[in-house]
Amino acid sequence: MPDCIIVGGGVIGLLTARELHRSGLDVLIVERGKLGGESTWAGGGIVSPLYPWRYDDAVNVLAEKSKRIYPELCAALLEETGVDCELQHSGLLITHDEELQQAQRWAEQYGVSLQHITTARSLQEIEPQINPRFDRGIWLADVDQVRNPKLVEALRKSCDVDGISYREHSEVQQLLIETGRVRGIQIDGSNIMADKVVIASGAWSARVCAEVADIDVAPVKGQMIMLKTEAGLLDTIVMSQGHYVIPRRDGYVLTGSTLERTGFDKTLSSQARDELLQYASELVPCLTDYAIERHWSGLRPGTSKGIPYVCEHDEIANLYIHAGHYRNGIVLGAASARLMAEIILQKTLSCHADAYKMTSPH
Ligand SMILES: Cc1cc2nc3c(=O)[nH]c(=O)nc-3n(C[C@H](O)[C@H](O)[C@H](O)COP(=O)(O)OP(=O)(O)OC[C@H]3O[C@@H](n4cnc5c(N)ncnc54)[C@H](O)[C@@H]3O)c2cc1C
Repeated sequence: MPDCIIVGGGVIGLLTARELHRSGLDVLIVERGKLGGESTWAGGGIVSPLYPWRYDDAVNVLAEKSKRIYPELCAALLEETGVDCELQHSGLLITHDEELQQAQRWAEQYGVSLQHITTARSLQEIEPQINPRFDRGIWLADVDQVRNPKLVEALRKSCDVDGISYREHSEVQQLLIETGRVRGIQIDGSNIMADKVVIASGAWSARVCAEVADIDVAPVKGQMIMLKTEAGLLDTIVMSQGHYVIPRRDGYVLTGSTLERTGFDKTLSSQARDELLQYASELVPCLTDYAIERHWSGLRPGTSKGIPYVCEHDEIANLYIHAGHYRNGIVLGAASARLMAEIILQKTLSCHADAYKMTSPH
């Protein structure tokens, strides 16, 4: 019998499993599909909230802690598995400055480098391919990116190397609760008992714990396109009005993303595809010369304020909720998993955790 079952093998479940395993727990991840195959695979991998100053401190505290964990995490994963997560320092160039004061206050509070750009030429010095019609902006030089599918591959291999058990294509149908505490889960009519259970089921988390908790997590669809360009065409992540282009090392450029509250439907639309292509060429005109290689969508685990649940259930002992990371599961994930493990293992917490409890607004 495992010490702990994690329901969901996205980035949140995988990172939580890693933290718990490193503290000596015997962990089993139970995943309905493939490890990392949902929102985690679909994301852009920007290791920063898009407009951090719009978020509550509860989000920024975890984001800033995570940013410091990623270099050490990716180096360890490379060493253990040989997979390079392509963590790279791309910077984030925002092509408008209307929120400069809020941005500067946030940068000062968290000790982040922020530069106000006031000419088209200075923007082009940072990213030569940017549309010359932009003439002001905000430059966050320290923003990193990881390549999500590589992060998933590395985390999966690290489970194999470290001996973390996982079961794919296994849907948890029920949580087993008895006399005020969780006892395990049910899959395909059979029970797997465990001392502790963590719900890390992304957009599906409210469904998975519907019988025992009413949590504010709902799917928010995001569509993304990927263009094939030559390596080195773009240096930086460029963003305008919520849309961005992310250059990967080998020349692929991702453009995202839509925000659609249409339930669990992941259908792609040609309208979104065309709009994303238009945003891409508006930000970086030369992208019109390149073909769309792929178009996909993912379901973000949305909460109202983007604040995740990182907590034990209020009334059911040993049942934990680790979900609702919305647009920031990659950036928050590393620190959030550490905090979740500290709560589970009753260790000293690395930050205040009240904002992540079931009773707090999310
Ligand atoms: C287009 C797009 C762009 C994004 N860009 C970024 C970005 O740049 N930076 C960033 O930080 N974040 C980004 N995100 C958000 C980020 O991807 C998510 O916050 C993160 O992946 C959530 O991870 P998760 O593990 O909670 O969810 P998921 O990755 O969805 O994993 C949950 C898992 O639970 C499984 N599951 C569900 N129900 C059950 C069940 N009953 N039994 C067993 N398993 C179950 C699912 O199959 C799934 O694999 C983006 C998301 C999208 C869609």
